[in-house]
Amino acid sequence: MAQFDVTSLKFDTEGLIPAIAQDSESGEILMMAWMNKDAVQQTIKTGKVTYWSRSRGELWVKGLTSGNTQQLVSFRFDCDRDCLLLKIVQKGPACHTHRQSCFYTEVRDNGEIELMSPVDK
Ligand SMILES: [Zn+2]
Repeated sequence: MAQFDVTSLKFDTEGLIPAIAQDSESGEILMMAWMNKDAVQQTIKTGKVTYWSRSRGELWVKGLTSGNTQQLVSFRFDCDRDCLLLKIVQKGPACHTHRQSCFYTEVRDNGEIELMSPVDK
């Protein structure tokens, strides 16, 4: 087996790569956020999913303040090496709106928007 080399991933011009978090048990897609090289390495090393916060400009250990942590189960990248798929165990809701998944807004074929998930506080 070849050794993983973080520099073989394709980071964008800002040094970031999108990471999709998927519930390892239900298969539900929970959220998408960004990682830089350090976030990738820290996530793999610690097993605690760590993103890059574009708004704060710093590493962001998911759940460090909210308690809604993500434990890494598997780390994959896609065929183009420009997108990550993290299978995780999610503690509490993944979304800051207190929903399990960030993808709760659906656009119907008549153009209407529907909220698919209530807020479970
Ligand atoms: Zn969200």
